[in-house]
Amino acid sequence: MPVQTYRYETHLHTSQGSACAAASGKMMAIACKEAGYSGIMVTDHFYYGNTAVARTLNWEDWVELFAKGYEQAKSTGDEIGLKVFFGWEADYDGTEFLIYGPDKQWLLTHPEIRDASILEQYQMITQANGLIIQAHPFRKAEYIKKIRLFPEYVHGVEGINATHSSPMSQHHVQPEANTKAIEYANQYHLPITSGSDVHNTIMLGGGIETKEPLETVADYVELIKKKGDYSLLG
Ligand SMILES: [Zn+2]
Ligand SMILES: [Zn+2]
Repeated sequence: MPVQTYRYETHLHTSQGSACAAASGKMMAIACKEAGYSGIMVTDHFYYGNTAVARTLNWEDWVELFAKGYEQAKSTGDEIGLKVFFGWEADYDGTEFLIYGPDKQWLLTHPEIRDASILEQYQMITQANGLIIQAHPFRKAEYIKKIRLFPEYVHGVEGINATHSSPMSQHHVQPEANTKAIEYANQYHLPITSGSDVHNTIMLGGGIETKEPLETVADYVELIKKKGDYSLLG
């Protein structure tokens, strides 16, 4: 009998949160369920990234609208049997970090995260028992001025970004970026993750696979920080 495993998409955008995304939280949840994922992590572009939410809003209103893609994906996930976890993708001049652990309430009570330096982000997210993963560290793109690495200020590295390597990918096809990311993570003994960076319902096949289900985002944070039992998809 085949052993049951669980797949999680760790890097996903919704049109409510990300200006560059084409599908809503609801559509993304349905597409991921149909693709066989057990759960997804919604990581919309944060305040200084390609956010879909007006920066003219005050912090509370901005956070409320920013979380809408996650919240819609979560309510759809509850209906169809898909776990949905909250996260975000922070942008520092093109250098991007996936953040997991803190929730919307935490954002509302920690407005200083918005303008935190990369060091301060590390201190705050670590303090909150969260996880920081540098996203696609070797991606070459117009919006990334230069490749910058921060091994001391992350808990892990996105070694596989399926947008770089999937045959279904329509953007940023550069599989060597993943090879370099894995080499870099191994050099610093940092945990490695995989995610698709999906912006629409064309599934790219990235993510992680576990033998035990993840019940909360804290389970994911712990799994990665402890280099637990999981494999990389994509
Ligand atoms: Zn994007
Ligand atoms: Zn992304």
